[in-house]
Amino acid sequence: MSSTSEHGREKHDAAFKAAQVSVLLNAVLMTMQIVIGWLAYSDGLLADGVHTLADLAADGMVLAVLRLSATAVRRSANDQYDRYETIGSLLISFLLIATGMETLWSSLGHAVNVASASSVHASALVVAVFVIVAKEALFRYIMAVAKRTRSTLLVASAWHARSDAISALIAAVGILGSMAGLAISDRLAAAVIGVMIARIGVNLGWKAVKDSFGRPASETAGQ
Ligand SMILES: [Zn+2]
Repeated sequence: MSSTSEHGREKHDAAFKAAQVSVLLNAVLMTMQIVIGWLAYSDGLLADGVHTLADLAADGMVLAVLRLSATAVRRSANDQYDRYETIGSLLISFLLIATGMETLWSSLGHAVNVASASSVHASALVVAVFVIVAKEALFRYIMAVAKRTRSTLLVASAWHARSDAISALIAAVGILGSMAGLAISDRLAAAVIGVMIARIGVNLGWKAVKDSFGRPASETAGQ
């Protein structure tokens, strides 16, 4: 039977590995989405690529927090780790809100000029479908690790992967509409994805503020 510290160690290692898998996958998907989104004239795929870029920043923060927490546990300085997590979450929250608003703004601007719209190339649809499959697989993988290690951080990141799959599904529907002759559908998909990005940012920021103020005074005192 393993001791509590061994369990903590295993939990930390599994979470770290899951975050690394997520970073690698997001780097590949982001490159495909931005390059093909741009070449295939898909605002929706491009917006989803920017979303994946923001996810990469979030994954990077999870890795940093996990690394700091390993040190913090050894030094019994959890308050230090919590502070890093709050600052990191707030920074990414602002980044996501700004990215979402900018995506919404530019796609609405483009939607007005439908006359100048080029129809989206089929390669954008291939990438969008690939992203849906990859993000759904990532959701299942992270959720399995989260259940095994009982990590709430990983449960949250698994659900994020599922919402990413839905975001890619919206991009795919927009691309399909554009290929069928309804040019505005790709821009509308981009606008919806923009709102989704901003919403993730608001939720993340709100959770960081709530966790920070909800902490017992004994934990926040004496920093
Ligand atoms: Zn995401």
